[in-house]
Amino acid sequence: MKPVVQRSERDLLIDRVLAKSRGIYGCEVCQLCGRLGGYSSYFGAFTSHFAGCEFVASGHRHPKDFGRRGELLAKRDSRYCEVCQTKVSRSSAHPVGNHWLCDTCVADPTRWDPDATYPFVRLFGRRYVEGLSDDELRARA
Ligand SMILES: [Zn+2]
Ligand SMILES: [Zn+2]
Repeated sequence: MKPVVQRSERDLLIDRVLAKSRGIYGCEVCQLCGRLGGYSSYFGAFTSHFAGCEFVASGHRHPKDFGRRGELLAKRDSRYCEVCQTKVSRSSAHPVGNHWLCDTCVADPTRWDPDATYPFVRLFGRRYVEGLSDDELRARA
């Protein structure tokens, strides 16, 4: 049986990983389905972001072809809130940076970290690190 990391140890590992600079990685809301998806490396970031930096997760079951995914995204009249993942109509979604927010989240900046130089970077990094397995965390800490 795999040893289970205690919650406090896991939090400590997450803090240690976040304290290091690890290049490009993140975990954003996929704009085709609203679920979280991750990416790492420059190549991973480049191939999962479309015009306006909208994110479509490469690991999700969407068409593999980059151009086709971009077409699907362009046709959609809805987007997903980057913070709470709520589906919102494109016309009522609020663009903040390169992302979309719902009415509730745009009204409460504490939800998306206004103190960061890039407001969403810490949110993305946090999600990505939280998604790592215990072993992956230990290897990166
Ligand atoms: Zn998706
Ligand atoms: Zn929201």
